[in-house]
Amino acid sequence: MSGIDFDKLRADITMQQVLQLLGFESTRGRGDQWYGRCPLRDCPPCLRPCFSVNVAMGRYYCHRCHRHGHQVELWAAATGLPLHRAAIDLCAALGREVPWTKRW
Ligand SMILES: [Zn+2]
Repeated sequence: MSGIDFDKLRADITMQQVLQLLGFESTRGRGDQWYGRCPLRDCPPCLRPCFSVNVAMGRYYCHRCHRHGHQVELWAAATGLPLHRAAIDLCAALGREVPWTKRW
């Protein structure tokens, strides 16, 4: 199995793009810090916006289901795919080339 350059992937694909694919709407937020409903399907409903994301840093954290990570991990959590498959799936969803690691 070929490796994926996750650093390049995270540089290429922004947290905003992943949030957009998931239909996330920020209900409250300032600058790069956004809050809203958790876009992860099996997250228990929360009364207050429980999902916080820093789009500049590309990190999310859900105070309800306690899942967290960067944009590729968010896509993996949302799709239920393992990280490697999720990265490929995410590139396909955005019509991008997968940044494979080069082997010499
Ligand atoms: Zn959640």
